[in-house]
Amino acid sequence: MDRLTEEQAKTIANMLRKRSLWMIHYCTGCGAIELPPTMTSRYDMSRFGLAPFVTPRQSDILLVTGYVNIKTLRRIITVYEQMLDPKYVIGFGSCPINGGVYWDSYSVIKRLDRYIPVDLYIAGCMPRPEAVITAFRTLMDMIDQGKADGYKRYKRNLAYYKENQRKVLG
Ligand code: SF4
Repeated sequence: MDRLTEEQAKTIANMLRKRSLWMIHYCTGCGAIELPPTMTSRYDMSRFGLAPFVTPRQSDILLVTGYVNIKTLRRIITVYEQMLDPKYVIGFGSCPINGGVYWDSYSVIKRLDRYIPVDLYIAGCMPRPEAVITAFRTLMDMIDQGKADGYKRYKRNLAYYKENQRKVLG
């Protein structure tokens, strides 16, 4: 039998990977309250191969569930950098997109994607479990198609991210 090409091996790996995703949820804001119904029997995210996990090094997805203040940002970056490639970030709710209701707060950052790459946002204040499930399925499709490449962007544009981090965190 012929050996697989590198491209074929990647396609198979992505197909399998998208069905076995572990997620660390950093509950930064109020949106976290929608996670229990998403995880448990009502919406049951485990039917898609998704499971919550407790340590960054074993997790594939970092879910940032709400507003991010400056102190929290430091921890989020640490968690993100501890995760192994390939890794994916989902911004949950309006606050990580643009600051949301905290848009003029001195202590809340306005755009998470200036500091770490975000593969996908879930809009809303707060997003319902249906929207969360849709986002997970979208991420699975992106992984399958090789489009969830935030971790590559982080390496490629490291100077950009580090400069933005430095401006806020010192
Ligand atoms: S988007 Fe709404 S629900 Fe989510 S953290 Fe911001 S204020 Fe809270």
